[in-house]
Amino acid sequence: MDKKYVYLFQEGKASMRDLLGGKGANLAEMTQIGLPVPPGFTITTEACNEYYSNGEIFPEGIWEQVWPALAEVEAASGKLFGDKKNPLLVSVRSGAKFSMPGMMDTVLNLGLNDDTVEALAANTQNERFAWDCYRRFIQMFGDVVLEVEHYNFEQILESAKEKQGVRYDSELSAESLKWMVIEYKKKIERKTGKPFPMDPRAQLMEAVLAVFRSWNNDRANVYRKINGIPHEIGTAVNVQSMVFGNMGSDSGTGVAFTRNPSTGESALYGEYLMNAQGEDVVAGIRTPNPIATLAKENQEIYQQFVDFSKRLEGHYRDMQDIEFTIERGKLYMLQTRNGKRTASAAIRVAVELFHEGVITKEEAIMRIEPDQLEHLLHRRMDTDAKLQVLAKGLPASPGAASGRIVLSAEEAERLGNLGEKVILVRTETTPDDIRGILAAQGILTSRGGMTSHAAVVSRHMGKPAVCGCDALKIDYTQGLVVIDGVEYPHGTIMSIDGATGRVIKGEVSMVDPELSEGFKEFLGWADEISRLRVMANADSPTEASNARDFGAVGIGLTRTEHMFMDPERIPIVQDMILAQTLEDREDALAKLLPMQEEDFYGILKAMQGFPVTIRLLDPPLHEFLPHSEELVVDITKLRMSKADPGSLHDKESLLRNVRALSELNPMLGHRGCRLGVSFPEITVMQARAIFQASARLLKEGYDIHPEVMIPLIMGKEEFIMMRKLVDDTAAEVMSEQNVHIHYKVGTMIEVPRAALLADEIGKVADFFSFGTNDLTQMTMGLSRDDAQGKFLPIYLDKKLMKTDPFVVLDRDGVGKLIGIGVNLGRSTNPKLGLGICGEHGGEPNSVEFCHIVGLDYVSCSPFRVPIARLAAAQAAIKNQGK
Ligand code: ADP
Ligand code: MG
Ligand code: MG
Repeated sequence: MDKKYVYLFQEGKASMRDLLGGKGANLAEMTQIGLPVPPGFTITTEACNEYYSNGEIFPEGIWEQVWPALAEVEAASGKLFGDKKNPLLVSVRSGAKFSMPGMMDTVLNLGLNDDTVEALAANTQNERFAWDCYRRFIQMFGDVVLEVEHYNFEQILESAKEKQGVRYDSELSAESLKWMVIEYKKKIERKTGKPFPMDPRAQLMEAVLAVFRSWNNDRANVYRKINGIPHEIGTAVNVQSMVFGNMGSDSGTGVAFTRNPSTGESALYGEYLMNAQGEDVVAGIRTPNPIATLAKENQEIYQQFVDFSKRLEGHYRDMQDIEFTIERGKLYMLQTRNGKRTASAAIRVAVELFHEGVITKEEAIMRIEPDQLEHLLHRRMDTDAKLQVLAKGLPASPGAASGRIVLSAEEAERLGNLGEKVILVRTETTPDDIRGILAAQGILTSRGGMTSHAAVVSRHMGKPAVCGCDALKIDYTQGLVVIDGVEYPHGTIMSIDGATGRVIKGEVSMVDPELSEGFKEFLGWADEISRLRVMANADSPTEASNARDFGAVGIGLTRTEHMFMDPERIPIVQDMILAQTLEDREDALAKLLPMQEEDFYGILKAMQGFPVTIRLLDPPLHEFLPHSEELVVDITKLRMSKADPGSLHDKESLLRNVRALSELNPMLGHRGCRLGVSFPEITVMQARAIFQASARLLKEGYDIHPEVMIPLIMGKEEFIMMRKLVDDTAAEVMSEQNVHIHYKVGTMIEVPRAALLADEIGKVADFFSFGTNDLTQMTMGLSRDDAQGKFLPIYLDKKLMKTDPFVVLDRDGVGKLIGIGVNLGRSTNPKLGLGICGEHGGEPNSVEFCHIVGLDYVSCSPFRVPIARLAAAQAAIKNQGK
């Protein structure tokens, strides 16, 4: 049998998304469950893929399947395609597996020509309506299929209004519309060299071709790249019998979500327009009415719509985004899909669906992309800030942003890429603006509702947006906006609050987010399900308590060098480094000791009840000294000025020291435990600070769990030497203070040799923490700083690597080494604690690997803790029974 390229709606189902695309599969599913869907059929994604693999030629036999399907639609609708008495009109709609706003616009009213338009007029007894459909069709077909630019039609529309002396499209008479049709056709013939196609079948074939071609257009390619959608999956084409929302005041069209896509609140949420067609609602041409007012306009239809949307939500077990049209008092369903939503809405919906008994906890957990949570951890406006509110629009996408206003996507992209904060201000946005939206901090539009392009895309990206801000007048030619008669040139700093719709003058101070109760409950489920514990990397008491608030159960990494970098301490640290004798060095260390003790006291206290892993000093010493170039400049100046020979001498000896300490390859140089090997007194000072702080806290009644971590070992020998310093110091402090401190000593595994000798090290260490930043550098022989901005992008581009190994852990290589380290370590020490503290600890894919390889915990930056908790739960669910 020949391959099946065409499926009637009654032949498909929701599970056939690969073949029918999302829109086609759901139209089929809605047909199956008995909802009123205008009849139609879907041409498969496979046909599109073959079109491309054949060298842009339609697959053989495709039309032999299309025409019989069309005949079925004719039979179901009681109309005939191209018929001069009772013509069938169709829409041609693209639809890939994933919804892609970057693709072809839908063509409505296809099948109209100079004859069928007369029949439509006669049958509806509405000449104006028929000619309005016809001129819209020519315009859409001309624009979308024949690629005659939109403005050509706009010009004709404007002159028609001028000629008739009216302001709105809806006031145009049948005569004016007829005139426009003639002008449109002339324009198309002039632009394309061919007359507008009058044969409906030819129109259909051309439209299908245009959908296939649109799969490869710029917008679609950019959209796929940004969203990681594969290029090879192709698009389907849906051909569907038309229903008309523009047949008068008892007709209309709209879109609605079954729950609020910004907040997740369980209430129907949407917009509609009476006497309108197609995308009038989302295009922002007229400002639509909220769906609730439909109840007043037509209670029966509203109730029916409420019932249908409940049915759809129950059927799909998720929040739906629905498109509908009312034709002369009869409701039709035109599309449904799982609705896009903000992160906070996603969580609220998942939590409430669980409480409603619709989904399980595990399903709720799997519904949220961990990276999506990032948006929730975004800042909002400080409630105490004094705000100069200029205007108010619709709260289209939550979050707040400040930046310079720019009036074009290109400008937003250019400045955004330079690191400038900008707010993109447009009348409305289109898919062509996508790069600019991506580069901007926030979006502000003067037209369009909550379901306009700007609103939908911003919510999806987690960008703040305010839409439909009527008070805002944009003057593109002069490059300024006007609010209440005041001009603000582009470049003016403004702020928007997407949660309330406010537009504010100047920059506004922001505050950190708090987790909602629902979010906490949700993350609680994640903790129930996951095996991995999530700790945080934190270097100060504030960071530690932030991490606690986000649910961290300990600190997996405290970097003590950050404490040394404090400007007040730098001179003492420099004395320590430059000391020529042990005595001098111990003097400096004695000054640092109480400061370090305070640091550890604060962190241990903030994290009481949980382990705190403190890593001993790691970076090369010259990082604490001034740059040699700066010193050379200073010395030259001092020489020229013939100033005090003493200070010249000091600078010169400093320079000698800086030069002596500088390294050709600091990453592989005198750092980590190598510092402690050369200067044991530094290690002893740090250990003393840790244990003295611990002793104080224990006496004050705190439950504390200090863990000392030795960095950058190559094998057990260094570890044993360092551990002895720590243990001896602990014993000293305990006897001095007369307390018992329970502590652990472990190591970072970040040199490949240490992973390979993990069995030996496991015998003497209490825990391992895989330092995957360095481990990746050393395993791959890649310096992160030299690679990331330079040749790594080329590697990614040439597909030598799938992802940046400093972002997503390289499972094949670095991961294999971790696996070896885990197994060898546990083989000699079954109680060995195992974790990871590189930046990978907060990246979902890497977290999954940590689960699989059998680690006990991951540690990441405080703001990524919720992300890691969710990723850990998802890893447990995905790898159940493995
Ligand atoms: P998109 O992928 O951009 O959402 P659609 O294919 O859903 O595009 O079409 C956009 C709009 O066109 C729909 O929301 C609907 O209002 C209108 N439309 C599409 N098909 C029909 C039809 N058969 N009858 C009436 N209106 C239609
Ligand atoms: Mg569209
Ligand atoms: Mg749609």
